[in-house]
Amino acid sequence: QAKEQGRNMYQVYGDFMDERTYQSFLMEKQLRKAILNGEFIIYYQPRVNALTGEIISAEALIRWEHPQLGLISPGEFIPLAEESGLIIQIGKWVKRKVCEQLNEWRVERIPLIPISVNVSSQRFLQRDFSNDIKVLLNEFQLEGKWLEIEITENSIMKNEEYIYECLRELKKMGIRIFIDDFGTGYSSFNYLKTFKLDGIKIDRSFIQNISTESDNAGITIAMIKMAQHLKMDVIAEGVETEAELSFLLEQDCQFVQGFYFGRPCPMEEFEEKYMYSRQENQS
Ligand code: C2E
Ligand code: MG
Ligand code: MG
Ligand code: MG
Repeated sequence: QAKEQGRNMYQVYGDFMDERTYQSFLMEKQLRKAILNGEFIIYYQPRVNALTGEIISAEALIRWEHPQLGLISPGEFIPLAEESGLIIQIGKWVKRKVCEQLNEWRVERIPLIPISVNVSSQRFLQRDFSNDIKVLLNEFQLEGKWLEIEITENSIMKNEEYIYECLRELKKMGIRIFIDDFGTGYSSFNYLKTFKLDGIKIDRSFIQNISTESDNAGITIAMIKMAQHLKMDVIAEGVETEAELSFLLEQDCQFVQGFYFGRPCPMEEFEEKYMYSRQENQS
């Protein structure tokens, strides 16, 4: 029925919309509905200190549970959400969900781990970003250290003065900030001197086959060295194999995230695998 409706719409709009514009028009409509109907779900992926085997934090990764199409990955709808501005509402929902989760652990007396959220540059560059977070943390009476933020390099390229102020505010709250997909953006290293950031996440594309691809190896070694020098944390993303892990450990990079340790999964599964054991250890 929806399909039929879609076809009729296409006839109406067909005169001035090409197929692709029309597809994103449809998807944007569905995204709006998804926000109202609560069709999103957060998956969580562990980050591990590979030296100790301890979980150090988790990353919140959104998925869309589409009533007809099933689970849709963020790569397929985040770009459109950014284009249409809907990312603002979606991001707000993610941050609230994460705070609710942290609060739940606290109530259940499960020792907390920080959870990191991805923040689109569009949102990050809006004036009220840090204040929104402050209000949220206040509402849940949460310390900022439990909420980490991942931004991409493009987020800190523009509008230096504002960003400086924003980062200062976040720092005051104790929130840690990581550069996501490090090394893939369109940026200079200048900002690393200007802003005191907490860490970088080396992009998966550099980690892949790192033990056999010497270009990847060289770039990754340089990034680790640089981060160490700047006293920034390093998290290697997309670690899939034992060989990749041992290479990273040899280079003194022990914070890792990837399928080798655990795929992103729903919270129930995440708690079973990583959180309940913490509760027992404590008591
Ligand atoms: P990201 O922040 O760089 O997240 C890492 C992506 O790599 C995730 O894809 C994760 O599932 C995947 N990954 C982790 N380990 C491995 C591995 O070992 N091998 C492989 N092949 N992949 C691995 P996912 O969940 O599909 O998310 C894609 C991107 O969507 C994220 O990249 C992030 O940029 C964006 N995203 C996800 N959730 C949100 C959100 O709540 N807000 C915003 N603004 N963006 C989000
Ligand atoms: Mg629960
Ligand atoms: Mg990320
Ligand atoms: Mg990344």
